Amino acid sequence: MDSGVIPFNRPHVTGKEHAYIDEAIGNHQLSGDGAFTKRCHQWIERETGCAKALLTPSCTAALELAALLVDIEPGDEVIMPSYTFVSTANAFVLRGAVPVFVDIRTDTLNLDERLIESAITERTRAIVPVHYAGVACEMDAIVAIAKRHDLGIVEDAAQGVMARYKGRALGSIGDLGTFSFHDTKNVTSGEGGSLLVNERSLVQRAEILREKGTDRSRFIRGEVDKYTWQGVGSSFLLGELAAAFLQAQLEQAREITQGRLAVWNRYHELLAPLEQAGLIQRPVVPDGCVHNAHMYYIILSPEFDRQSVLDEFRRQQIGAVFHYVPLHSAPAGIRVGRAHGELQATTSLSRRLVRLPMWLGLGESQQQRVVEVLGRHLRR
Ligand SMILES: *Cc1c(COP(=O)(O)O)cnc(C)c1O
Repeated sequence: MDSGVIPFNRPHVTGKEHAYIDEAIGNHQLSGDGAFTKRCHQWIERETGCAKALLTPSCTAALELAALLVDIEPGDEVIMPSYTFVSTANAFVLRGAVPVFVDIRTDTLNLDERLIESAITERTRAIVPVHYAGVACEMDAIVAIAKRHDLGIVEDAAQGVMARYKGRALGSIGDLGTFSFHDTKNVTSGEGGSLLVNERSLVQRAEILREKGTDRSRFIRGEVDKYTWQGVGSSFLLGELAAAFLQAQLEQAREITQGRLAVWNRYHELLAPLEQAGLIQRPVVPDGCVHNAHMYYIILSPEFDRQSVLDEFRRQQIGAVFHYVPLHSAPAGIRVGRAHGELQATTSLSRRLVRLPMWLGLGESQQQRVVEVLGRHLRR
């Protein structure tokens, strides 16, 4: 185990996926909203307490649904971090919104709640907190700001399945939340996602938007005797085969999270000496946050050249990666967005961050090797 390739990610398979997919085939309905989709919805609703869960083809699609539901109009402004995945911004830009990029906190790399209020204008419609690495944003403060200014909250909880903030599931706190089941996430169906509707008054419109603008969801429940075109919409359903795969994973979500936390905690211990030596900064999980070990990242001290660290990992066949190129500095972000202030933390931290291999089944000796390679390189 002292040599060999250590991949960055390896999607976990529980073993029940095949049986559930066979069962879905036997049900003779392969399109969306069949028996497995219903079971997934119930699982998410029970686990998170959201009013309505709706499986989608991706978290990207769930964010697009959310942007439609909060009635974004051209010229509206939406506050979000620049340090996030492109889908957070795209969903709103597709509706003509201007993403307003606010800096992040240096401890959690989450939207800095102290900077939000000064970014609000009369065009601001919504705040989109992204729970980076499954560690919650400071939601009490963000909810209070949204209330004061009558703004919607869409939580990008793509990375936050099974994580909590002061006892509440991530994605269940804002008006709307979104999950990702992409195969780089903790619980997966390959591609997949879910919208979490917390604001009850949005449930019916969410169902209609997701079902091509029809009230087919009410028809299936027997609430209307035919379904008709009610408004705009699109096809935002996940197929039953993917839902069957997902159900197998959701049933094991607790075990998956526990297993990942064991891997995460091992990294945290092994890396403590490098932090004490002033070479790196380890992730911070504030009080009140229960995280889900979605990723393990380190922040290199400013004197190091990140590329040389990544090159060394590649030479040793260790899959370490970086992200994100801040959206405010990317070509599209410059064109369509607005940076609120200097975004110094975003710029500095995004250049120094390295994500280490992180998956269920990653062995202790493999982790020791990752940390040894890093330590040897940084102490040269
Ligand atoms: C993964 C991710 C997404 C997109 O998820 P998909 O399911 O791949 O569309 C959006 N936002 C964040 C923060 C993510 O990490």
